[in-house]
Amino acid sequence: MAKTKRGERAALQRALDEIAQEMHETDGWGMPPEDEALSRVDLHQFGIAVAFPGEGVVASAGDAQVPFSIQSISKILSLELAHEAIGDALWKRVGREPSGNPFDTVIDLEQYKGYPRNPLVNAGALVVIDLLVSKYGSDEAAHAVRSFVEKHLDGDKVTFSDEVIESSRQGGDQNTALMHIARHFGNFDNEPAKVMLPYVLQCAMELSCHQLARLGLFLIPPEPPKPDDADQRRIKRARRILSLMLTCGMYDGSGEFAYRTGLPAKSGVGGGILAVVPGTASIGVWSPGLDEAGNSRLGVMALERLSDRMNWSVFANRGPV
Ligand code: GLN
Repeated sequence: MAKTKRGERAALQRALDEIAQEMHETDGWGMPPEDEALSRVDLHQFGIAVAFPGEGVVASAGDAQVPFSIQSISKILSLELAHEAIGDALWKRVGREPSGNPFDTVIDLEQYKGYPRNPLVNAGALVVIDLLVSKYGSDEAAHAVRSFVEKHLDGDKVTFSDEVIESSRQGGDQNTALMHIARHFGNFDNEPAKVMLPYVLQCAMELSCHQLARLGLFLIPPEPPKPDDADQRRIKRARRILSLMLTCGMYDGSGEFAYRTGLPAKSGVGGGILAVVPGTASIGVWSPGLDEAGNSRLGVMALERLSDRMNWSVFANRGPV
């Protein structure tokens, strides 16, 4: 990709500054998450950062350097690793359809006989991690996700919140139930506790908007003129993960979000959202207050405004400006 011109960067920085300002003037910061430790985070925070392939972060605004719990955004990381490790056999264990139900629903899993609707809801992510645990073991599965992140952040050391780990463990009954239901239908191989450990750890990972935007660049892999087999597989995986993010990444708010932004994205109940403008930009946004679907209220609003101002939608005719 050509280097961004200084004028384009300046326009982007202006857009982010305006949006950050507007977010402080909206009529509400959203609701605190249910999780005990996460609910203690001050809701009155907003940050956003944009990274370009080959360049890293080119613009940011607000609380863009403050670390937050990435929670379900981590589901795309374990998905990438499992997809890389076992290829299409993955889809025998988990589906690719939007859910339309809350992210931690047990109803879908019962209805579809232990086959989770997609890898970006809790049931699907737990089955994906079950696959990783079968391949690497419980500790190594957790380690693999962390190493993946640190590699893509050029060696930045990732931190974890002990409080969030503890409260996720204590509040993990529903996730444990999901694993037992999947196991009842023959779609779960390991002891639930062995899968819970890497799941809780990846959710409790803390990143800032800057780091999240840089990490998201793995979804915009370089496309060399003569890609080798590994390049081709990486490119295909990224396209598939982006497709899943567009249809399933924002839980039962996915349709509404796609309508408003036209961008693939993945949210977490820590208030973070990773959105990608395919081929162009990776965006990390964070504001801890949530909407009804469990997505960051201001994060969604900010991405809608950014997509409008920059013409950043996968459905834009002119292509991104
Ligand atoms: N730790 C959370 C859970 O399992 C993650 C869910 C989320 O971010 N939506 O409930």
